[in-house]
Amino acid sequence: MKINEMSAEQNGYERGIDTRRLYRFEAKYFRGTDASKVLPMKTLRRLANRIWKKYGKGKPLPWVAAGKGTYYGKLWLSYSQGDYIQLARNQRNFLVLIHELIHSMGYDDHDRLFIKTYLKILEEYLKLDHDELHRAAKEYKLVK
Ligand SMILES: [Zn+2]
Repeated sequence: MKINEMSAEQNGYERGIDTRRLYRFEAKYFRGTDASKVLPMKTLRRLANRIWKKYGKGKPLPWVAAGKGTYYGKLWLSYSQGDYIQLARNQRNFLVLIHELIHSMGYDDHDRLFIKTYLKILEEYLKLDHDELHRAAKEYKLVK
């Protein structure tokens, strides 16, 4: 969730669809996997640092904080404000961290470019099988 997503989603039908598909993919496909396992902030920051060194485009590493998140549709969600990421309770895991880091890289929308970078980083850092991940992404209609 990018902090400005809420109003943007209300304005953009197409974008809302992508967002719901993405959240469904995250909630269902990764349920019970290591990617969804809640971890200490220290562990999450260590991964953030590794990813940022390669993909951060020279920008300073965003500060990854534990917090309440932002209230959205009956849920507390994690968010990115660029150089600041807040991870909500029960979302302090690799999957959500990577999602928010990609927003911090400058991909504001859950568009094709976001998804492309997201899948690449998930595969690389969570050591997921390329073909299987892309098969799932197709199944959830994140890619064609
Ligand atoms: Zn998002």
